[in-house]
Amino acid sequence: MNGGTSSPAYFPASRPWTEAGGMVRLHGSKCARCGVVAFPPHPMCPSCGAERGQHVVELSGVGTLYTFSEIHIAPKGFATPYAVGYVDLPEGVRLFGQIDAKASELKIGQQVAVTLGPVRADTGGAVISYKFKALAEGNAKGIA
Ligand SMILES: [Zn+2]
Repeated sequence: MNGGTSSPAYFPASRPWTEAGGMVRLHGSKCARCGVVAFPPHPMCPSCGAERGQHVVELSGVGTLYTFSEIHIAPKGFATPYAVGYVDLPEGVRLFGQIDAKASELKIGQQVAVTLGPVRADTGGAVISYKFKALAEGNAKGIA
């Protein structure tokens, strides 16, 4: 027994991100040979296969919602309903994740910001991962 104090788990466990000034920036790898950016950072280029020259880069904190859905039936530990979607970052990376919004309030093509938060609760406590939050159209330009 540990007295009920459990530290959160992270996904991915390598925590490929930094937080500064309220902004979350994910880390990707950029290939020196072909320029393709991947997330999370890869030791080998997933596009051209280069085994060297993968440099860690900070990805944009704001992306464009490519598509989304709302989950009503989920594995144990997920609080339904919740929204998920694919988000395109300017670097050419398409991410999948939860969105802190009601699906009825989302629009394809809108701007969303990367954030961190619990995505599910394991038996040991919350699992923290990157996710997205909707940006009002007015302030999207200011942040991006
Ligand atoms: Zn490459």
